[in-house]
Amino acid sequence: MFDKVDHLEFDCVIVGGGLSGGLLLHGLKVFQPDLQVLLIEREPQLSSHQTWCFHTTDLPADAQWLSTVISKKWSRQKVAFPDYERFLNQEYNAIRAHEFAAFLTNNYFESIRFNCEVLGLDAQHVVLKDGSTVQSKMVIDARGWSQSENKNHGYQKFVGWDVTLTKPHGLDYAFLKDVRVPQIDGYRFFYLLPWTEKSLLVEDTYYSNFPDLDADAVGERIQDYLNEQGWTVESIERKESGCLPLPFFESQARRSEYICLGARSELFHAVTGYTFPTTIARIDLLVKTPLEKWTSVLAQHDQKIRSQLRFLPALNRMLFLAAAPEQRYQVLQRFYKLPADLVSRFYKGELQISDWARILVGKPPVAIRKAIKSLLASR
Ligand SMILES: Cc1cc2nc3c(=O)[nH]c(=O)nc-3n(C[C@H](O)[C@H](O)[C@H](O)COP(=O)(O)OP(=O)(O)OC[C@H]3O[C@@H](n4cnc5c(N)ncnc54)[C@H](O)[C@@H]3O)c2cc1C
Repeated sequence: MFDKVDHLEFDCVIVGGGLSGGLLLHGLKVFQPDLQVLLIEREPQLSSHQTWCFHTTDLPADAQWLSTVISKKWSRQKVAFPDYERFLNQEYNAIRAHEFAAFLTNNYFESIRFNCEVLGLDAQHVVLKDGSTVQSKMVIDARGWSQSENKNHGYQKFVGWDVTLTKPHGLDYAFLKDVRVPQIDGYRFFYLLPWTEKSLLVEDTYYSNFPDLDADAVGERIQDYLNEQGWTVESIERKESGCLPLPFFESQARRSEYICLGARSELFHAVTGYTFPTTIARIDLLVKTPLEKWTSVLAQHDQKIRSQLRFLPALNRMLFLAAAPEQRYQVLQRFYKLPADLVSRFYKGELQISDWARILVGKPPVAIRKAIKSLLASR
């Protein structure tokens, strides 16, 4: 494909220094330190404006190597709906992107190229904006979400503020969903992650039919929520926002001559829009496998992941097509009454047939005709 090749040759070139690219770089440095690895990032620094979270139960067995990059761990989680609240005694973890970026930059600086936009790639070449080409035995595409023409989905959109308060907030757990707020623009909840006794991430989240996000209006609602808790903000350290697609139908497996990782792989949890569980499972496999076997080992693994994830879009159809926006929360309120191990399998994307029976059995909290129609819908 490319005729001009510079004298640069690597074992593995990773394109994109976000969550998945960074995790793969770190994993390879731990397990296969002799490999010549290069991570290429188009920005002057690695991705640093996100908070990436996961349940400990999302991790593959023996993923100890990840512990050095975890910013914070909570031993329990809480959800609070209008008619039901619950603590789950299960660990929750956060990787703060700016801390992860600093860790990678400090430890693996020689293996990272910043300010370097990639214009094209194939199985063994990467073309840079300056016209040069890098050659590699393995090329990994970790460039994040690709633009999708498919509009058959809902959205999880959110704005989060990292704030320091004038007084302690009193939280010692990850408050995953505070749904006791006006249900504007779909299923809406606050997500609170306490960092220190006075600092926390406060995020206003919407499961909406529309991608638009008015950051000023949401900012006012965050301020209202803080006031209602009796919390006064001393300073806002950082803001983040996102809009993740929640597909109504399973995505088709794409044929690619190189390995796609993270959001680029389109292997993510359809109901949360989260990529971490599938990404870490795939990376854990790669870093413990010799390079020459990556393609075949991953193909087999991905087939299993696809099969496990394939029913999740049906829940989105029930959520977005059968439930009225202001009643959407009831589907989740009912779900959270299920056993804790089922909830964990749901987040990991590893629901069993018996779990589906438990999720769907009984009277759904939406009109039955609409629920059945949404579950049976086809593209
Ligand atoms: C604010 C926010 C919070 C999120 N929180 C969670 C969470 O808690 N848990 C979870 O599982 N998921 C979460 N997600 C969803 C998803 O996991 C993230 O979007 C995650 O960052 C995806 O990782 P990635 O490596 O695929 O892409 P990214 O992290 O977006 O990284 C892609 C990188 O590639 C670089 N790049 C792109 N194009 C080029 C190019 N041409 N040349 C060179 N470099 C390029 C970009 O600059 C970027 O650094 C969140 C998303 C957002 C937006």
